[in-house]
Amino acid sequence: MATLGPDDESFELKQDQELRFEVENAPIEIEVTSGLAEIFGVELVKSKKYLFPIGAKGAVFTWQGCAITMKNARKNMTYVSKDTTPMNYYMNVHIILEKQRDEAENDSKRGPITMIVGPQDVGKSTLCHILLNYAVRMPGLNRKPIFIDLDVGQGEISVPGTIGALVIERPATIEDGFSQLAPIVYNFGHLTPTANMDLYQHCVERLWKSVDERMNKDAKTNASGMIINTCGWIKGDGFKCLLACAKRLRVDNILVLDQERLYQELKRDLPKTTDVVLLHKSGGVVDRTRQYRSEARDKRIKEYFYGSRLKPFNPHSFDVKFGEVQIYKIGAPVLPDSCMPLGVTATDFLTKVVLVQPGPSLLHHLLAMSFATTEQEIIDTNIIGFVCVTNVDMQRQTISVLCLQARPLPCTKLILTDIQYMDSN
Ligand code: ATP
Repeated sequence: MATLGPDDESFELKQDQELRFEVENAPIEIEVTSGLAEIFGVELVKSKKYLFPIGAKGAVFTWQGCAITMKNARKNMTYVSKDTTPMNYYMNVHIILEKQRDEAENDSKRGPITMIVGPQDVGKSTLCHILLNYAVRMPGLNRKPIFIDLDVGQGEISVPGTIGALVIERPATIEDGFSQLAPIVYNFGHLTPTANMDLYQHCVERLWKSVDERMNKDAKTNASGMIINTCGWIKGDGFKCLLACAKRLRVDNILVLDQERLYQELKRDLPKTTDVVLLHKSGGVVDRTRQYRSEARDKRIKEYFYGSRLKPFNPHSFDVKFGEVQIYKIGAPVLPDSCMPLGVTATDFLTKVVLVQPGPSLLHHLLAMSFATTEQEIIDTNIIGFVCVTNVDMQRQTISVLCLQARPLPCTKLILTDIQYMDSN
């Protein structure tokens, strides 16, 4: 164990306690010196040092008791909480899901499909992580649940503006989260479902079809079920959107975090076969400002292209001639009802694929690279990944792109998104 400096601190946690931290002024380093501890379901290795950069928020929880040292603890916000009752509820949920997975496995059926809902900043993503990590930590069971992220504002799988699915086979790592091997990603292209509700629901439907196919091919994944994260937009159209997603994804269990009203409304409007459960949020969950969210999005996109401290990537920069690619956007302005041709609906406009003339307005936008081979397939096809436009040269008729792969681009069909990123590397 390293010697402690004046800003460092050691903590003795009793069973069911947690050490919460918000890193505001200097990175912290956490080391478990004895006992067992975890962060959002990921077990910490004894004597290993974990670094948390400025902006990180989290909690080290222990079921059994442990001792921890924390470098720079006194320069940041840290405290030990004894009020961790929600963790017991979350463990109970995990035990129930395990029973449902066992039953599914025995009967060769689909396992529990569980959706987590609630307003912003109640710990929805955190609870998804806890339940997924606990599932894959079950000794000898080889659980392979699917994590579905419908939260386009954060975009944990891929980048913000997307929805996606990932088969989880092992616990997340503290530094890099879940392994991002072969995710299924659909491009929505906006940061909130309100931007184009018809397109959002279309993407959810397509995602469901891809996931359904994958589950049908793998009995283990099928029996392990799904854990679904959602946006914090729950009122008015947001509620309707949640209801539609729950029905589309054939959800069995809905966990409502900290909102009695939402719980009552979902119970009222969902079929009786869907189990709706109200859970308390953890007292440690931190509210995040608009600016924090915007910075977190930039960080996510930067990580997409450049990787992390422990797993850096070396993206490529190259020019693409206007003539080498076709750039599309999805959604055309909706005509007033009186001008609508017979048999055409607003949905047809909102999901219409429109060719875009390359120009300066592409600068800093992310373009999704589509697996589609024809224009008709674009709306229904998942994506390979993204490039970021770092320059537009009208004279040479080229765009410069930042791309994870070397030239040439793996496709010729690109989709313009609303998501912007200023590459400063
Ligand atoms: P959003 O509506 O934006 O999707 P959310 O409901 O998914 O938010 P989380 O992202 O899970 O909320 O949590 C919000 C923040 O609180 C995160 O930074 C998370 O790390 C932190 N957090 C969650 N639980 C705890 C805890 N017990 N102690 C300290 N911090 C926590």
